[in-house]
This record gives sequence, structure tokens and C-alpha cells, in this order.
Amino acid sequence: MTDCIFCAIVAGQSPASVVLDEPDVLAFMDIRPFTPGHLLVIPKRHASGLAQLDPEDGAKVFAAGQRIATAMRASELPIEGVNMFLADGVAAGQEVFHVHLHLVPRTAGDGFGIRAHWQTPNRTVLDGTAATIRTAVESHRS
Ligand code: 5GP
Ligand code: ZN
Repeated sequence: MTDCIFCAIVAGQSPASVVLDEPDVLAFMDIRPFTPGHLLVIPKRHASGLAQLDPEDGAKVFAAGQRIATAMRASELPIEGVNMFLADGVAAGQEVFHVHLHLVPRTAGDGFGIRAHWQTPNRTVLDGTAATIRTAVESHRS
């Protein structure tokens, strides 16, 4: 028995309300939904975070999420918009260490939101941060 709850769902050892079952991707309802219809899209192959995720699996997860989000908005469910959300790392709010893409259906006034202290950096600061990240991206190959 795996100690990863999402691997246990993939293996059929733990129950889930499945929305989409593809060879490399599974989508199922979140057990503690932020809003009605909140679901998760995961790669079947275990990856604890984005650094461990095969980019091809990542592409399949996003494609499945895009397809489900579009279908949900066209469905009879009262969905006016969808947020995609992915937490990578404890500081980002990740609690389950098997990569998952949240799809959160939205309706006006549903109370879901992102709490933040919005910052107003000047162009010099933005350019400096961009240069640091650009260098990191150029030197990092997954
Ligand atoms: P995170 O904070 O890691 O981005 O989100 C983890 C999500 O997984 C939470 O929204 C939580 O409700 C959901 N979750 C945790 N355990 C289970 C489970 O056993 N089954 C399902 N369907 N969802 C789970
Ligand atoms: Zn897993």
C-alpha cells in the first residue's frame, strides 16, 4: 500500500469520484471543495512537485484541465468562470505531495479569492528580478 493518497486513488486502493480517466492522467472531485465542482487533475505517475514532474505529464495534465474547464463552463452546472491553481511547495500551500492542478468553478460572489498584499515595484526592480529569473531559466534544463 502506497503512502501517497493520490497514488492510492490511481491504484484503486482509495475511493474517488472520477471525472476523467486517461492513460497518464486522472481527474476527480476534491473531498473538501472550495466551491461546488472543485476538482483535481493529476498525473498518474507520481511526482512530488513541479521539479520532479515529467514535462510531458505536465502538458497532459494541463490539456485535461483545459478540456474539463471548457466542458464545465458549457455544462448545465451554474459555472460562470474557472480558476486553475497549483500549489508547489509548503510555502505555496501544498499539502498533498503528488502534483495536482485544482480546477475551481466560479460564480459571482462565491467568496473564493486570493489574499495578498499587492506590491508596486518600479521598473528597475521588475527588470532586476526579470534578469535574475532569466539567468536561472537559461541555466536550468529539466
Ligand atoms: P494542496 O493544498 O496540496 O494544493 O491541495 C490538496 C487538496 O487535496 C485539498 O484541496 C484537499 O481537499 C484534497 N484532498 C486531500 N486528500 C484527499 C483525498 O483523499 N481525496 C480527494 N479527492 N481529495 C483530497
Ligand atoms: Zn503519488
